[in-house]
Amino acid sequence: MSECLFCKIAEKKIEAKFVYEDKEIVAFRDVNPVAPTHILVIPKVHIENILGIDGNLGEKMLQVIKKIVVSEKIEKGFRLVTNTGEHGGQTVYHLHWHILSGRHMGWPPG
Ligand code: 5GP
Ligand code: ZN
Repeated sequence: MSECLFCKIAEKKIEAKFVYEDKEIVAFRDVNPVAPTHILVIPKVHIENILGIDGNLGEKMLQVIKKIVVSEKIEKGFRLVTNTGEHGGQTVYHLHWHILSGRHMGWPPG
C-alpha cells in the first residue's frame, strides 16, 4: 500500500472534504486553509510534481480548476500555486495545485 498521504486521500482511505472527482482527478479542501477558499487539486495517479506530468493531464487539471473556480464563485480573483521541491516549499510530494481565494494576495510570495 502506498504511504503517500494524497494517494490515501484519493483512495478514500483518509477523510477529506471533496469538492470534485472524476476518473483521473480529485479536489478537496485543505485541512489547514491559508485563505477563506483553499482547495487542493490532485491527479489520482501518484506523480511527485509537474515534472512528472505526461500526455494531457496538465491540461485536464487546468480544466478542472476552471470548473471549481466557477462552482466556488471565485472568478473575481484567485491564486494558483504548485509548490515544487524543497526550494519551492513542497511538503507533500504528490502533485497538487492550490486554489487560494477570498482575500487579497500579496506579491512577492514568501
Ligand atoms: P505543500 O506544502 O506541499 O504545497 O502543500 C501541502 C498541503 O497539504 C498543505 O497546505 C497542507 O495544509 C495540506 N495537507 C496536509 N495534510 C493534509 C490532510 O491530511 N488533509 C488535507 N485536506 N490537507 C492536508
Ligand atoms: Zn501519492
